[in-house]
Formats: sequence, structure tokens, C-alpha cells
Amino acid sequence: MVTSPNAAVGRLAPSPTGALHLGNARSFLLAWLSIRSRGGTLLCRIDDIDGPRVKEGAIDEALADLEWLGLDFDAEPILQSARAHVYDLALDHLKQRGMVYPCVCTRTEIERAQSAPQESLDHGSRYPGICRDRFASAEAAREATGRDPAWRFVVDDGIVAFEDAIHGHVTIDVAADSGDFVVAKKDGQPAYQLATVVDDGDFSVTEVLRGDDLLASTPRQILLMQALGFPEPRWIHVPLIVGADGRRLAKRHGDTRIAWYRRRGISSEELIGFLAWTCGLIDEREPRTAASLVDGFDVQRIVREATVLEQDPFA
Ligand code: GLU
Repeated sequence: MVTSPNAAVGRLAPSPTGALHLGNARSFLLAWLSIRSRGGTLLCRIDDIDGPRVKEGAIDEALADLEWLGLDFDAEPILQSARAHVYDLALDHLKQRGMVYPCVCTRTEIERAQSAPQESLDHGSRYPGICRDRFASAEAAREATGRDPAWRFVVDDGIVAFEDAIHGHVTIDVAADSGDFVVAKKDGQPAYQLATVVDDGDFSVTEVLRGDDLLASTPRQILLMQALGFPEPRWIHVPLIVGADGRRLAKRHGDTRIAWYRRRGISSEELIGFLAWTCGLIDEREPRTAASLVDGFDVQRIVREATVLEQDPFA
């Protein structure tokens, strides 16, 4: 891998919990363009630690879809499932500094503990701190309750602020929004927040471009980066493609999988051209290769609002 010392490092991070759809593909196209237009290095990280949700064959399918779209990367894909020891080390570091604590609460107990239902920005529920200062160790938690504990990160009061290339100055009160959040699950697996921060830090990622459904996660990741001593990357949260009901693309909106368009004989140029047009990179809808969009790419051209997909764009 050839890198110049100041070059941008980005990553594509597909979750093999299902096939890539138009929305994922558009975010990956933008992440690819942002790095390629500046001669940076692009990594591909596979977020395959989400236990039962990971689907057989989905990794190979995602890689085949990316290749078909012309979105290449510069090193072998990094599998999160192969990095358990690295996440364990990071968790140990947090434990030694008293920045995490064992928590045995179930979802129902957390909901019952709220006087009024409190939904966080990304629709989880806020943790009210029941297990903070409750157990001296994981063993003590296990002994007292007979349950395997998860680990939560202690969130101090205060606003977390960051700059996003699309959303501008963002401020989120993490203590009031999600509260102390899970960094390792009770089965010992790292939570997404911890794994993504450790990976972005370890691989010196300087730019995180992803869908803006993850905007609310970013301040939690910043807190973890600070705790683990990683520098903050540049944040670019791009709008999503949503269904007519305004919700993130999913099965209920019909088949929008890349593989489905491929199978119908739609060309990758037609698909890339459509995606580039919907997010404002080109004025006319026309077949394009990803490579043809590199010159002059500017994140500031990306539309600010979600794209509503009313019908099959290739019907
Ligand atoms: N794998 C995550 C997703 O598909 C992306 C994580 C990230 O970019 O930080 O939503």
C-alpha cells in the first residue's frame, strides 16, 4: 500500500446483515469519491460482529457489489470478527481507568426505571445509570445477580461538539441523550461504538463519511476516541435515501438491492449515474462510471436533504 504521509485515509464499512441497497451504495460512492479525489487511501472494513444478524454469504455479496460498482479499495478487507483481541485490549484500558462499569440491566428494567419514556436521538432508550457505582467488578455483578454483565462507558455531564462537513457545528448532550452507553455486550462481544472507534484509530482513518443516521452516534465515538487517545477524524454525514414514508430504505420499500438491479440487466453506469444525480453531483441523470466523477468532486455539492424514493428508478 503506497501512502503519502499527509494523505487522507477513509473507509467503507459495510454491515453484512443484509445485501447492499441503493442507500448503502450511494454512501459508499461518496466515501470513495471523497478519498479518490484527493489521492488518499481507502480501506474496506467489514462490520461482521453483529452476531445473529450477520447473514451467510453477505460479505462476498457486498464485495462483489462494490467491485461491480467500480468502488475499489487499497488493502485486503478488514474483518471485525478477526480483531476480538484488539477490542478486548481497548476494553481493558477503559476498565483500568475506571471509565466503564459492569451493567446487568435488561431492556425492560431500563424502560421501567424511566418515569416517562425517553427515546434517544437514534431511537435507543436513555440509560438512567442504575448500575453506575453498583458493583465492584464483573464477578461481583455475576455473583449478586446470576447474570453476565455488559460494560457501559461513563458519560460525564456536558455537551459534545464537533464539526461536520455537511451538518456544520453539531452539539449533542450525550448524558441527556443516551446516557452511559454499552461498549461491550454481555456475551463479551464489543458493541459497534467501541469496535468502530478502535478500528478507525488503529488504521489511522482521517475521514469518516457515512450515512447521517449515524450522526447521533458520533459524539459517543468522540468520547471513546478521547478516552483511548485517538485523534478525531473529519466527519461527513451524508443524507440517506428514504422510502415514501420517510424511513430509511428497508425491505418494506420493495427490492432496492444492488444485486436485484444487476440481475435485471441494469448496468453499473446506469446505477452510479442515478445515485450521483440524486445526491446533486451531476445535473442530468445519465450513465456514469464512478471514476468519471472523481475530477472536481466536492462534498459541498452533496444535497442536504434525504432523497425520497417513490418508485423503482429503473422500472
Ligand atoms: N457498518 C455501519 C453501517 O452499515 C457503518 C458504520 C460506520 O460507518 O461507522 O451502518
